[in-house]
Order: sequence, then structure tokens, then C-alpha cells
Amino acid sequence: MSEDIDDISNLTFPQAVGRGGTLRCPACGGGKLFHGLLRMSKACSACEFRFERPPGYFLGSTYINYGITAATSTVSYVVLHFGLGCANGQLLPGMVTFILIFPLVFFRFARSLWLSLDCYFDRVGASEAMSGSRPAGTRDPDTVERR
Ligand SMILES: [Zn+2]
Repeated sequence: MSEDIDDISNLTFPQAVGRGGTLRCPACGGGKLFHGLLRMSKACSACEFRFERPPGYFLGSTYINYGITAATSTVSYVVLHFGLGCANGQLLPGMVTFILIFPLVFFRFARSLWLSLDCYFDRVGASEAMSGSRPAGTRDPDTVERR
């Protein structure tokens, strides 16, 4: 298991983005993050890195999803309207369809990127998610605090 922890501590930014973009485990790049269309696996099938996180953890993935959707639609509009001269009336149905559909399609990738980038920026939290430890952000109920 120490090899897996080494993988997390040596995770580079391109690796994090690559593993996030391909819906793979951020720790080893082997296991799939999702089984089925929307169901996330609880842990990596290859290295047992825990994907399950406390409630609210994946809220940040909505920022990634929103940002990519807004950037893509803005660039598309500028290129199509100002570059190719398409009228607003022609663009509206396609743009509205894109803005409604793309975030649904990108949902899994946004979650995967959020998890991978969190592992890249928070190595301690990521190493805590390796097997044998509790989900990140939770406390051991058996631990008694002493003051
Ligand atoms: Zn893994």
C-alpha cells in the first residue's frame, strides 16, 4: 500500500488532470471512478483509494461544470457570431440546447476533475483516503479527546 501513497505524493498536475478527464482513480490511474452512468464506485478497484466523501464534498465540482460550460458557450458565441457572422436568431436554439445538455453530459467529468485536483492540492487529505483510514473529513468515533 505504501506504493499507492507514493503515487499520491508524486502526483503531477498533468497526471491529475489526465486521470480526472478520463474518469480514473486519482491515486493510481487504474480503477474507474464510475460504474454505470451516474453511480460512483465507493473505492478504487485497483488500489482501494476511497472515492466516497462526506456530504457536500462534490459541491465544488459544480464550479468546474459551470466554468467549462460558460467558457465554451462564450467562445462558441464569439466565434460563430463575430467570426462567421451567424445571426443571433440562428444561434439561439443551438446555444440554449448546448447550455442545457452539456452540464448533464459533463457532470461525471466535473466530479472526477474535482476529486483529482483536490488530491493534487491536498496531499494529506488524499493520503488519508487510502484504504484503512476513514473518509476524509470524518473523525474516528472511538477516539476520545483529552484536554
Ligand atoms: Zn486507484
